[in-house]
Amino acid sequence: MGRIIAVANQKGGVGKTTTAINLSSCLAAKGQKVLAIDMDPQGNMSSGLGIDKDNVDYTVYDLLIGEATIEQVLHKEAIENLDVIPANIDLSGAEIELLETENKEYILRDEVLKIRSNYDYVIIDCPPSLSMLTINSMTTADTVLVPIQCEYYALEGLSQLIKTIELVKERLNENLEMEGVVFTMYDARTNLSLQVVENVKDNLDQTIYKTIIPRNIRLAEAPSHGLPINLYDPRSTGAESYMLLADEVIHKGEE
Ligand code: ADP
Ligand code: MG
Repeated sequence: MGRIIAVANQKGGVGKTTTAINLSSCLAAKGQKVLAIDMDPQGNMSSGLGIDKDNVDYTVYDLLIGEATIEQVLHKEAIENLDVIPANIDLSGAEIELLETENKEYILRDEVLKIRSNYDYVIIDCPPSLSMLTINSMTTADTVLVPIQCEYYALEGLSQLIKTIELVKERLNENLEMEGVVFTMYDARTNLSLQVVENVKDNLDQTIYKTIIPRNIRLAEAPSHGLPINLYDPRSTGAESYMLLADEVIHKGEE
């Protein structure tokens, strides 16, 4: 049974999409069968994995509104071992269109249930909000992985996110667990990054991944080439660190 991980943080620009793309791809490179689901109308995960998101027949939006089947929205082997359900700006309309739909919190879950046994991992990239799209992601997920950017306001909003996860667990998905937090954009040249890591470790009662993702320009460049970091520049510090994160995720799953 595939382990389903939602990458979430309502703050924008903290490295959710970068983590979702590269964790998916590094897991696939290690021989895991992976499904990546883009739940952000910006569609950056889709384009970052090489999909021409504005010229696809179907996206996750069509799935949510019942206009396409899960088989139709799947882009098989976008990369070896990695299938993708893409998104584009159409998805921004879903929230309102689904307002009257019964069980709208569970649409994604019910669809993904049909195919999860084909995968070792399903990675969901959430939008920067606590919207219906994020709720659908969290009802589908087994765990939530929270990227935290190593900057001064790192902890801001985190308690709200954790409350939301607890609320979803209480009301909508009793199996939901916190996967843990992963630090991103660590800058070894500044004391600030180090202080943020220490401060979060002292104040947050959550699993914290040992792998810390450094600030690495190659990670920012790779999406414009439609490639994950391990294919764009496998020897970069960004690629090395996401490979290590993938190892840790696999190891945690085996425990
Ligand atoms: P989110 O999905 O949380 O909004 P992104 O993953 O899109 O965040 O990252 C925001 C910006 O920061 C993007 O331009 C991305 O390329 C860049 N970025 C993310 N992680 C890193 C990193 N480790 N090093 C350098 N740039 C990064
Ligand atoms: Mg994003």
